[in-house]
Amino acid sequence: MSSSQFPPFLSPKLEPHSESDNAENPRMLRPSPISLDVSVPPTIISPSFTPVTVPSTPVPIPIISTPQPSDGLPDILPEVECVVRARIPTTSGTEIFLHLYKNNMDDKEHLAIVFGNKIRSKSLDRVREGETEMDRMIRGAYIGRLYPGRQTSGEDTTSLEENASNDRATLVRIHSECYTGETAWSARCDCGEQLDEAARLMSKENHGVVVYLRQEGRGIGLGEKLKAYNLQDLGADTVTANLLLRHPADARSYSLATAILLDLDQTEIRLLTNNPDKIAAVEGKHREIKVRERVPMVPIAWRRNSGGIRSKEVEGYLKTKIERMGHMLDRPM
Ligand SMILES: [Zn+2]
Repeated sequence: MSSSQFPPFLSPKLEPHSESDNAENPRMLRPSPISLDVSVPPTIISPSFTPVTVPSTPVPIPIISTPQPSDGLPDILPEVECVVRARIPTTSGTEIFLHLYKNNMDDKEHLAIVFGNKIRSKSLDRVREGETEMDRMIRGAYIGRLYPGRQTSGEDTTSLEENASNDRATLVRIHSECYTGETAWSARCDCGEQLDEAARLMSKENHGVVVYLRQEGRGIGLGEKLKAYNLQDLGADTVTANLLLRHPADARSYSLATAILLDLDQTEIRLLTNNPDKIAAVEGKHREIKVRERVPMVPIAWRRNSGGIRSKEVEGYLKTKIERMGHMLDRPM
């Protein structure tokens, strides 16, 4: 069956299948735009789902149980420590608290962008041997707000400004760094828009966490991603391009995100994603975190007549996400 028989954004209608027939999943064997014989490895085969209809505004979808196995997830989570936290007033008027982490897996500076003042890092707040009150304030382990002349890091009058209580599970986005989409104005992907949209929704609730992982280009790095772009210009889709470069279609890992969310004491979350694999990955092998709801991210260009990213490249990218990576996204007809 040729992909040309389908409207470009029709999500695959999947029937539930068992683990053993994954290799026969016809969706994964659909020919790519260039006729190179690249078989798709089982790591990117998504579990079966009945695609949901996504209305024009994000509506949370409750997660009854996590349907996919946790195979391939690490048994032990990485160790993370929040090194420093700082208040960032943003151009939209919202204040965020940027948390910078170190870990025992790599040397990258992974981040948590925290909205609101109710979420705290356990590793940041832990008292370190020999540190002074000034040391604590400089690394951001203070409560309330800093002001000229403040002497202590603990609770003081500025910490009484607690905002309205938020009993719902925290809205969370796990975002992987995308230099091209976030900084170089690229319309090949929707990463920049997704980050902005996550920030907008979290600002509205004045509560939320974006875990920002430094895994550029689905984990293959910027240099390899740029090679993949050239392969895409030669006719490959995003999955095939990675495979031609001998990279997995998706080399990302989310165990650091799980560890960071646990450090921030977020064990029940609402996850902003279209990617079903991410739900199981973030929950961790032993379900250290529970995703209570999935909040879909519908591209702005699909919801409104103006705005959003409009390019033939982003359309192809979204099509590949849906057809080859199992993303749960229906283009409104
Ligand atoms: Zn991107």
